[in-house]
Amino acid sequence: MITSAQLFELACRHIPGGVNSPVRAFKGMQRPPVFIERAQGAYLFDVEGQRYVDYVGSWGPMITGHADPEVLSAVRSRLDAGLSFGTPTAIETSMAELICEIIPSIELVRMVNSGTEATMSAIRLARGYTGRDKIVKFEGNYHGHSDSLLVKAGSGALTHGEPSSPGVPASLAEHTVTLPYNDSEAVRECFAEIGDQVACIIVEPVAGNMNCIPPLPGFLETLRAVCDEYTSVLIFDEVMTGFRVALGGAQAHYGVTPDLTCLGKIVGGGMPVGAFGGRREIMQQISPLGPVYQAGTLAGNPLAMAAGIALLGKIRQPGFHQALAQRVDTLCDGLSERAASAGVEMLTQRAGGMFGVFFTGQSRVDNFAQATACDGEAFRRFFTGMLEHGVYLAPSAYEAGFLSSAHTPEDIQVTLDAAEKVFMAMAR
Ligand code: PLP
Repeated sequence: MITSAQLFELACRHIPGGVNSPVRAFKGMQRPPVFIERAQGAYLFDVEGQRYVDYVGSWGPMITGHADPEVLSAVRSRLDAGLSFGTPTAIETSMAELICEIIPSIELVRMVNSGTEATMSAIRLARGYTGRDKIVKFEGNYHGHSDSLLVKAGSGALTHGEPSSPGVPASLAEHTVTLPYNDSEAVRECFAEIGDQVACIIVEPVAGNMNCIPPLPGFLETLRAVCDEYTSVLIFDEVMTGFRVALGGAQAHYGVTPDLTCLGKIVGGGMPVGAFGGRREIMQQISPLGPVYQAGTLAGNPLAMAAGIALLGKIRQPGFHQALAQRVDTLCDGLSERAASAGVEMLTQRAGGMFGVFFTGQSRVDNFAQATACDGEAFRRFFTGMLEHGVYLAPSAYEAGFLSSAHTPEDIQVTLDAAEKVFMAMAR
């Protein structure tokens, strides 16, 4: 039997760092990554035959669990018709109708191949629409790896200590203004100074790339208000929160409506898909209707559309998100109780179907400075201990955790039993 460690060594020969996306490398966890062979429901199975209860869910898409039979069957039923045509297909219209119905702020929507493409294109559109260059983002928010957005970013960029990447021209980065998350006053001050130069604000309405940080009351409302006052475009990056925090995303959950929304992850059911959409007046600026160029050889791929439509159909069932949030509560409350009885300082935060675990004595974590002040070594010990007990968490203290409807009460109990042992060991 070949082990994960051996496969990692082989991978490193021809793939930079052995991985095709940095956080997968387990860098900082002081051990090689686990190589997965297959997945089913709430479980991952590695190449050595070990089973894990999975709280990563392919970084978000697997909201009904892995290898969902209905999603697989939707893909299978289209397979024999061909993989891609480079022409319009009826299934793209079905997807667009579904998205616009579920998220009413989206009147027109364009499909792309990743979350990165969605945010990159939305930024270009906001710049084209307003004729302004500056964009405002928040420290520790991650919007993919396009140049304008890889400034003080979260996720892998933060995990690997390079929140602002070399290779981004200073002349481009100077158009990106970065403010502290959840700081309404800083937003107002910034707009009072340069509001008439700002094309857009882009924000994760729940920050999920510096652990899990929900918006403070009034924060999203302030963003809406300044964008209205200065005719800037408000972009919600709902690549992670879309269809997860609530069916209609964070905008439905918190009742604040953006001008443009970026989607990814769940919308593709596990296939490489992203989308951006919003107010008709703005979206009409996109080519071929308008002058702002955006395109994609494989965009709207029929197999990817089939997977996404099948998944969205499933999670539209009444009560789906309520049940998911209840599971998150059971998990987070259980973790908090066990940490407290072991004497480990730990805090959980949550929003709908996503959650975060912070090793800190603080009572809340609301921004990047507080997130990065948490105990990274305690997280590493927790992560490693949980992995040894068959629980797969994101290999970084700066990633949110995801639950699926496939996680049974027994799976959560297995997780809590493991956590009890790990917290006890950490307290020793
Ligand atoms: N935006 C957010 C909020 C994300 O969490 C991510 C990825 O995790 C992205 C954008 C980029 O998406 P992708 O990795 O599909 O390019």
